[in-house]
Amino acid sequence: MSQVIIVGGGAAGMMAAYASAAAGHQVVLLEKNEKLGKKIYITGKGRCNVTNTADKEQFFQNVVTNGRFLYSSIYQFDHQAMISFLEEYGCPVKTERGGRIFPVSDHASDVTAALQRALKEMYVDIRLKTEVKALILEERAAEKQAPSDPAEKKKATKQADRRIGGVLLSNGKKMEADAVILACGGASYPSTGSDGGGYRLASLAGHSAVPCYPALVPLEIRERWCRELQGLSLKNVEIKLLEEGKTKPLYSGFGEMLFTHFGVSGPLVLSASSYYSKVWGRTAPSAQEGAGGRSEAAVRSGRPRVKLLLNLKPAMNEEMLDKRLLRDFEENSRKAFKNALGGLFPAKLIPVMVELSGIDGEKKVYDVTREERRSFVSLIRNLSLTVTGTRGFAEAIVTQGGIPVSEVNPSSMESRLCEGLYLAGEMLDIDALTGGYNLQLAWSTGHLAGSSVRF
Ligand SMILES: Cc1cc2nc3c(=O)[nH]c(=O)nc-3n(C[C@H](O)[C@H](O)[C@H](O)COP(=O)(O)OP(=O)(O)OC[C@H]3O[C@@H](n4cnc5c(N)ncnc54)[C@H](O)[C@@H]3O)c2cc1C
Repeated sequence: MSQVIIVGGGAAGMMAAYASAAAGHQVVLLEKNEKLGKKIYITGKGRCNVTNTADKEQFFQNVVTNGRFLYSSIYQFDHQAMISFLEEYGCPVKTERGGRIFPVSDHASDVTAALQRALKEMYVDIRLKTEVKALILEERAAEKQAPSDPAEKKKATKQADRRIGGVLLSNGKKMEADAVILACGGASYPSTGSDGGGYRLASLAGHSAVPCYPALVPLEIRERWCRELQGLSLKNVEIKLLEEGKTKPLYSGFGEMLFTHFGVSGPLVLSASSYYSKVWGRTAPSAQEGAGGRSEAAVRSGRPRVKLLLNLKPAMNEEMLDKRLLRDFEENSRKAFKNALGGLFPAKLIPVMVELSGIDGEKKVYDVTREERRSFVSLIRNLSLTVTGTRGFAEAIVTQGGIPVSEVNPSSMESRLCEGLYLAGEMLDIDALTGGYNLQLAWSTGHLAGSSVRF
C-alpha cells in the first residue's frame, strides 16, 4: 500500500481518488474549495450531462483536441462504466436526445453525492479548504550520476528523472506521498476553483503548457445589427465558419443559435467556437489581445477575417426558397415588402432583413424585381457576420490547451518528466464538444490515473 495524494476534487480528481483507493492505496484528496465538485453543480444547467452513449467512433468524432491520446483511458473506463458506477452508488440515470445521459432526478448534486458515497466507501481521506501551493520533488538521477565528462553530464541531466515526494500546502505544511495526481482543471469558470493554477504546479515538475484559450464559448460579432436581435433564438439554422480567402469551412453545423448583446451564442455557436479557438487561438496572441478571448485587435492587426455564414433556411435549396418567396409575394402582392415576410422570419428579424436587403421596406411587393428577389434569396442563405473574438474564460465551458499530451503517458496518465506524478482531466490539452463528452474525458483520465499508480 502506498500513499497517494490527489490535488483537486473536481470530476477527474474524485474519480482518480476512487480508482486509486479501489486499487488498494491510501488516498488523500485535497480540494481548495469548501466543497467537492463545485463545477459539477453547474454542469448541464444544474442537471449535469454526465456522459454520452455514443459508440467509440462517434465519441472520438466529438473530441476536438488529441482524441488519439485518449484511446486507452476511454477504452478502460467508458460511458457504460460510468453509468454502472453511478447506479451502483445510488444515482440512476436516463438517456435524452443525442445520447446525452443525465441523473433521473435532474439534479447535478446527485452525481456529486454518488461520488462522495464511493469515496467514503473506499476510505478516501477528504480535506477541503486545502490548497496545494507547490510540489516536493527529488532530482534523483542527477544526484546519482553526475558524471565529470560535460557531454555525459548533459546527457545524464536530460535523462534525469525527477521523482515526486509530496506536496506543499499554502498553510506551509508538507505532505509526503509516493504518488501525486494533479487534477486541477483548466482555466474556465475560475469562480469554481479551476483558475489555471494547476498549470503552474505542473510546470514545477518540468511540464510546459500549450497556450490556453476559451472554448465552447460565445462569439463576438462586429455587425451592429446583431445587437438589435438580442434575445432572438433561431432553430434549425445552418452556420459555417469561414476564414477569408479559404473555401473549406473551419466548422459547419446545423441547430440552434441565439443573438446576444455582444454577438452570438447557443449550442451551435459554442461548437463552432471550439474550431475557431483551435485555429485562431493557437496562433500566438498579440500583446493587445491578452490572455482572454480573441479580440477585435486580431482583425485590425491584419490577420484573415473569420466570417460566420448563416443560412436561415437550410432545408430548402436556392430554387425551392425562391419558389417559396414567390408564393409568399403572390399572396401578399399589394402589401409593402416589409409586411410580406411574416411567414418566413420571426418579427424581430424582419426589419434587419429588410435593411440588409437594400430593398425599400415600403415598396409594394408587386414592384419588387426578379433580381431583387433573387438577391434576397441569396441573403437568406448567406447572412454574413464578422467574428471579432470569443468571450473570455469566465464564460467558457472548457479550456483549450494545457499540459501537452506528449509529456504524459497515454496508457497510465503518468508524467513522462516526473516519476510518480500523474495528470488528469481538463488541465491536459484535451477538449471535446458539448453532449457529456468533456465530463467523460475527466472520468476516464481520472480513473486511468488512479488505477495506474503502482508500487
Ligand atoms: C457552465 C458549465 C457547464 C458544463 N456542463 C457540462 C456538461 O453538462 N457535461 C459535460 O460533459 N461537461 C460540462 N462542462 C465541462 C466539465 O464541467 C469540465 O470539463 C469538467 O468539470 C472538468 O473536470 P476536472 O476535474 O478536470 O476539473 P474541475 O471540475 O475544474 O476541477 C478541478 C478542481 O481542482 C481544484 N483545484 C485547483 N487547483 C487546486 C489546488 N492548487 N489545490 C487544491 N485544489 C485545487 C479546483 O478547486 C476544482 O475543484 C461544463 C462546464 C461549465 C463551466
